[in-house]
Amino acid sequence: MVRFVSLSSGSNGNCYYIGNSESSIIIDFGIGARTVKKRLSGFGIDLDAVSLILVSHDHWDHIKSLGTYVERSHKPVYGTRELFQALEHHFSVSGRIRSERHILEKGQTTAVCGFSITPFEVPHDAVDTVGYHICSEGHRFTFMTDIGAPTDEAVYYASMADHLIVESNYDLQMLLNGPYTPELKARIRNGHGHLANDQTAVLLQRSWHSGLQDVFLCHLSEHNNTPALATASARQALDLVGGNGVRLVALPRQETSRLFEWD
Ligand SMILES: [Zn+2]
Ligand SMILES: [Zn+2]
Repeated sequence: MVRFVSLSSGSNGNCYYIGNSESSIIIDFGIGARTVKKRLSGFGIDLDAVSLILVSHDHWDHIKSLGTYVERSHKPVYGTRELFQALEHHFSVSGRIRSERHILEKGQTTAVCGFSITPFEVPHDAVDTVGYHICSEGHRFTFMTDIGAPTDEAVYYASMADHLIVESNYDLQMLLNGPYTPELKARIRNGHGHLANDQTAVLLQRSWHSGLQDVFLCHLSEHNNTPALATASARQALDLVGGNGVRLVALPRQETSRLFEWD
């Protein structure tokens, strides 16, 4: 059995859990360890039993508690070489995870704890941002957040997923009419920022295949999106290509999702 739960999603902090029959992974550690522990325990899952941590990139909302938690727990951390170099420049992480680092190469698959993990490049304005394709017990997950454009590579990895976790950050009209400065609006939209609902729709249409079971929309903006808008956009895109049966879930920002399980 494999399981997935989102513990927090968005610029307030990101943390996701994927487990198989014996092991488990945390992807990103952007909220406090005490909160992660408490939220997991609500599902009967012990944070201390988690096998390893994957990191997507070095923005604060993805690494906030990584250093303090790993320094204390000595959990192995997996990421790219460039990511680890960048993390050494972050006060909260620097010097705290050195002995626990495990280097992953983009496009290469690493087998660990019953998971096969393949990082792949996505465009974003951090030092080195990756998505992850993760397979275990016959289930294929693709995780990609903080992705400025639906690139061919992103579409390729999305097209191999049974369960797709993908950013749907903003509604374009809400962003344009919203409170952000012109500079910030431009940064979000410049191809290395975040994915708009209509870009997520394009990605879904280009990558859809009949094996796709679930789409989890993540990293929704608090100011420039609503779960209803993001879901409606993705639903329309999936319906147009024959994906009417795909389960679609907008992951909540401040709290956990429910726990999703597959045999
Ligand atoms: Zn982020
Ligand atoms: Zn980011």
